[in-house]
Parts: sequence; C-alpha cells; structure tokens
Amino acid sequence: QPVLAVVGRPNVGKSTLVNRILGRREAVVQDVPGVTRDRVAYDAYWGGRKFTLVDTGGWEPDATGLQASVAAQAELAMQTADAVLLVIDATVGATATDEAVSKVLRRSKKPVLLAANKVDDDRLLADTASLWSLGLGEPHPVSALHGRSSGDLLDAILKALPESPREGGPVTSGPRRVALVGKPNVGKSSLLNKLSGEERSVVDSVAGTTVDPVDSLVELDGETWRFVDTAGLRKRVNFAAGAEYYASLRTKTAIDAAEVAIVLLDAAEPISEQDLRVLTMVVEAGRACVLAFNKWDLVDEDRRHAMVRELERGLVRVPWAEKVNISALTGRSVRKLAPALRTALASWDQRVPTGQLNAWLSDLIAATPPPVRSGKQPKVLFATQAGIRPPTLVLFTTGFLEAGYRRFIERKFRERFGFAGSPVRVNVRVRE
Ligand code: GDP
Repeated sequence: QPVLAVVGRPNVGKSTLVNRILGRREAVVQDVPGVTRDRVAYDAYWGGRKFTLVDTGGWEPDATGLQASVAAQAELAMQTADAVLLVIDATVGATATDEAVSKVLRRSKKPVLLAANKVDDDRLLADTASLWSLGLGEPHPVSALHGRSSGDLLDAILKALPESPREGGPVTSGPRRVALVGKPNVGKSSLLNKLSGEERSVVDSVAGTTVDPVDSLVELDGETWRFVDTAGLRKRVNFAAGAEYYASLRTKTAIDAAEVAIVLLDAAEPISEQDLRVLTMVVEAGRACVLAFNKWDLVDEDRRHAMVRELERGLVRVPWAEKVNISALTGRSVRKLAPALRTALASWDQRVPTGQLNAWLSDLIAATPPPVRSGKQPKVLFATQAGIRPPTLVLFTTGFLEAGYRRFIERKFRERFGFAGSPVRVNVRVRE
C-alpha cells in the first residue's frame, strides 16, 4: 500500500489535517509525555483506495539548528514515502523554513503536494497564489478545521500516489482451496478417501478434463472445500522414471493453486528431509499451513517422546503451524481438520490496522532496539501491514536489520496479534 508522508512546521495545523484525512477512522495515538513518538503511521481511505499516512511530527530545532533538522525531516520523508504532502500556514505565508524545505523537496523525484492550510474564508485565497513561488506546483487551499476543500486535496493525493499492488495469494471465490501434500506413502490418498467417503469420491470430483478429474469437492464440518489437484491421489499413478521429480512438481502445483496446505507427516517415522522440503515449499509459497501427523494409530509412548524432541529440533521453522494428530485408517480426529483449516485461513486473511501496529511496535523497539551494525544504530521509523494472504509487514528503517532481529519482531508480532497457522512476512525498506 502506498505511503504519503506529511511534513510541515509546528502549528501549521498538520495534526488537524491528518485527522481530517483519516476521517477519524483510526484514533490518533496520544503522545505520552516524555516519550518522543516522532513518527506515527495510520491507514487512510479515500475514493475506495487505501494508503498509509505518516505524520513526521513537528519540526523542533535540535542541536543542529532549525533549518538543518527540518531539512533532515524532509529528506527522511522523501526517502521513505511514495509522495510528500507539505503543509503551510496560509495566514502566515511561506517562511524561511518553508522555503528551505521546499528546496529539499524540489530535488525529490517523488511527487510533492502543497497544502495551504487555514484558508477559512475566500479572502485568503488570493494569498495562497503567492505560494506558487515555492516551486512545488499548485497550492491546494484547505481548511483542516472546517474541512474546506480537503476532498479536492485528497483527490490530488490519490492521483500522485502509485496504485497499490494487488494482494497476494490466488484470487478465489467459492469453496476455499486446500492442497493435500506430503511425501509418498504418508497417507494422502487414504485421507482424501476417508474425508470424501470412498464411494462418493467419483461423484464429488470436479471435471478438469473429461478424462482426468483435477479437483475434489469435499464436505467437512458443514462446509464445502475444494481439494486441488487430487487426480493423481485418486488414481494412484505410478511414475516409473523420475517419480520423485513428478511428485515434487505435483506438490508445487497443488500448493500454488491452494490457499491452505495440509502437510501430512508420518507420525510413526522420524521427520525426514523430504518432509521439510514440502514444508519449505508451503512457507515459500506463502500459504497457510496445517500440519497433520498421520498414522497416529501406530504411535507408541517411545515414538511420541521422540517426536517431541524432533519438533524441538527440526520443525522449529514452522512453530506457528496448526497441528492435528490423525489416523486416515481409523478416522481418528480427522474431524479436527476443518477447524484447523479455518483458523489457519482466518490468520492468512488477518490485517492489523496501522495505528495499532505502530503503537505496539514503538514500545517494542524502545524496549529492545535493533542491534548496532558497523557502528550505526538502525532506527525503525514506522511499519505497515502491506498485505494479506500471507500477512506481510513492511518496516521502514534507516539501516539494514539482521535476520535475527526480523525473526524477533515476527515472534513478538505473533505473540501480540496471533496469526496461528499462517506464515508472516517481515520486509524491510531501508532509506538509502
Ligand atoms: P499416499 O502415497 O500419500 O497417497 O499414501 P497412501 O494413502 O497410499 O497410503 C500409504 C500406505 O499407508 C497405505 O498402505 C495405507 O493403508 C497406509 N496408511 C495411510 N494412512 C494410515 C494411517 O493413518 N494409519 C496406518 N496404520 N496406515 C495408514
């Protein structure tokens, strides 16, 4: 989702304008005295589109002096945002500071919009014309307090922002799409037959081609699910040569076509490289995931303990996956699959509002800042959940964040907001 940064001197009415743009959809986080929350990001909606609004805070002169700190703020805004909105107090006109900022912004390749605020009545309109001299194009007269013309300003903002990219995952309607994957002989066909009822399996098949049914519709827990690419599972095709290659190709195809994968593991056997490869495919494809430990009827006490140890070692990469212990043979616990699928899909579709995300993140980062790299302390400026399916966070930073620290953020994010059963991506956008 595109990012708009709002910059301006203190008292030009920036916060009021930000509230006006947000339509107070998202409560503005109160500043805590003594804590500098110098950048806050929110979700904004206009004309059916969504963007992230970053309030860069007031420009207080620091040790380097007002001009320098203002210029630094403007640089930051330009580097992290897709467009910048400069707010000026029309009743005061362009000050030396405004001119200094404009000079910085004019160098930017990003679109810059100019809002002349506090135009509460028409007599001030003539004065706004003088703001053309800042070289930032047409000044947009607004009154944040009274809402005057903010609609026109928002239209201009949307025109300047890039289209938001499409959300990930396949676009679907109808039954949710499930891939049933796992190494050969783990029990995929057995489970599919158990779930659909052996006799009804042919009736439930969806014709892909006339010869080869591709998907199977299966009713679980009062809901119809589309198990994708199940042709091979039904027909027990054996590829004499290159069996492994075809099996992995089929797995990949099924995962790509699905929203959620049931990864079948053989509970009676140690977890293998092959199992981990399948899991990796699911995570890399960004699909929701349910781990089903099959053949549970064969698991004894010793094996159960061994499995706990394996989980601690080998599967730590998906500690967030939904887990169920089943037996395709006896039917044990297979009815637990549908609730697990629903949980995983709900997480896959979940979105945390930007205001809530940043309130949480600024506390987390204040308590545990990113590790210093080559003598520099990278700063996390703000974050937004840029997408769902799978949930994807984008952190805007002043420096590279180590993988360990990104995992720490992911772990804390899950602790705070849930997301069981879904991968979560943490991307970093570093200002150059
Ligand atoms: P696929 O290659 O993953 O489709 O595996 P199959 O469904 O063909 O199963 C392979 C073998 O495991 C068959 O002999 C099944 O009868 C057996 N099997 C599948 N599920 C279970 C189970 O839950 N318990 C036991 N004991 N055997 C199972």
